[in-house]
Amino acid sequence: MGRYTKEDIIRLVRDEDIQFIRMQFTDIFGQLKNVAITASQIERAVNNEIMMDGSSIEGFVRIEESDQYLWPDLDTFAILPWRPQYGKVARLICEVHNPDGTPFVGDPRNVLKRALQQAESMGYTFNIGSEPEFFLFQTDEDGRPTTRTSDEAGYFDLGPLDHGESTRREICLCLEEMGFEIEASHHEVAAGQHEIDFKYADALHAADNIMTFKLAVKALAQKNGLHATFMPKPVYGAAGSGMHINMSLFRKGRNVFLDESAPGQLSPLAYQFIAGLLAHVQGFCALTNPLVNSYKRLVPGYEAPCYLAWSSSNRSALIRIPAPRGQGTRVELRSPDPSCNPYLVFAACLAAGLEGIEKGLTPPAEVPENINAMTPEARAALGIQRLPGTLEAAIHALEADQLVLDTLGPHVSAQYITGKLREWEEYRTQVSQWELEQYLVAF
Ligand code: GLU
Ligand code: MG
Repeated sequence: MGRYTKEDIIRLVRDEDIQFIRMQFTDIFGQLKNVAITASQIERAVNNEIMMDGSSIEGFVRIEESDQYLWPDLDTFAILPWRPQYGKVARLICEVHNPDGTPFVGDPRNVLKRALQQAESMGYTFNIGSEPEFFLFQTDEDGRPTTRTSDEAGYFDLGPLDHGESTRREICLCLEEMGFEIEASHHEVAAGQHEIDFKYADALHAADNIMTFKLAVKALAQKNGLHATFMPKPVYGAAGSGMHINMSLFRKGRNVFLDESAPGQLSPLAYQFIAGLLAHVQGFCALTNPLVNSYKRLVPGYEAPCYLAWSSSNRSALIRIPAPRGQGTRVELRSPDPSCNPYLVFAACLAAGLEGIEKGLTPPAEVPENINAMTPEARAALGIQRLPGTLEAAIHALEADQLVLDTLGPHVSAQYITGKLREWEEYRTQVSQWELEQYLVAF
């Protein structure tokens, strides 16, 4: 049984003086989209009758087959606290369906649901806690975003050094109103950089929460005259923004990554899951790190991973096992950045981890040392590979990874690869400021 029935939603819309309802969904490239309806249409909305034209959404469908229907997940009903409090605005997160009622293969939420069904058939629930980082920048006289910040604070500093503090506070309060349980909120390493952590959830709702989180951060920053960005590396020479994801599998309410009697208290299943992730992390890198700019973050020196290794503590490793044990035992993947589509990323991580379990894979030995400080020879001797260095290399790794392609399905993988190759080609032919500075005079 869900939290809300159709009647509950209709009553809430009336009693709470809601004027608009945003029917939200996410496109293949991770952009949140919505069709806004007025309160008079709520009955049609809860009966899955709101139609939209999918041909105008990137990566969705061709013009000839463009009618699609939005099926709201009633439990995602929430009032947007930053919108007017008279004539309020609410949202419903939706799934996209074809006119015959079948789920649309190009809807990322459906991709994740398919992957979750496989976990369910093996008896598992997949839980995710994420750590999205972002920058708050000043805007110029015309309200356009800059990369300037008057904030000079660093990791865990607090006001008055930290100018984003009051914005961050407002974000936390609004998210709590929307049902989030905020666990931590702090200044990150770079000037103007922040992180807000919220309680883990099952993967589907964890992905919904990330989309809501990004919308709230952007809306509230704008309200405070700032610009929020989840771009992975906005400033050369400063830390980039990651979105580490903490994963655990539960069976009958118990965390199966925990084995109290084992050394390190990690179960064989946890190791197999890690091995599965390591086997496919290059293949799904184009999902976890989807932008040209994502690869500017994956460089040594800024606590972002570059090499394939796991460790129980060391932050230079791609996979880390955070200290908590008991029900909080988890595997942290540090490569994803917050520009990713969380539905596709969680689906790929789950499929990779489950393959590790099904095949009984064994991960390589833990690497406790700082991998960035090792010589290339030392890394080669340990067989440590690296993440793709560019979006192009990542797309080719995706093309070669059948498990990830199958998890996305033929429609999403084809649209994703085509779109990303186009992005790469456009970037590849640009002439950058760096090139002018290096070459214009010298040659
Ligand atoms: N900003 C770092 C990254 O790009 C992560 C810092 C941290 O460990 O929280 O992944
Ligand atoms: Mg962080």
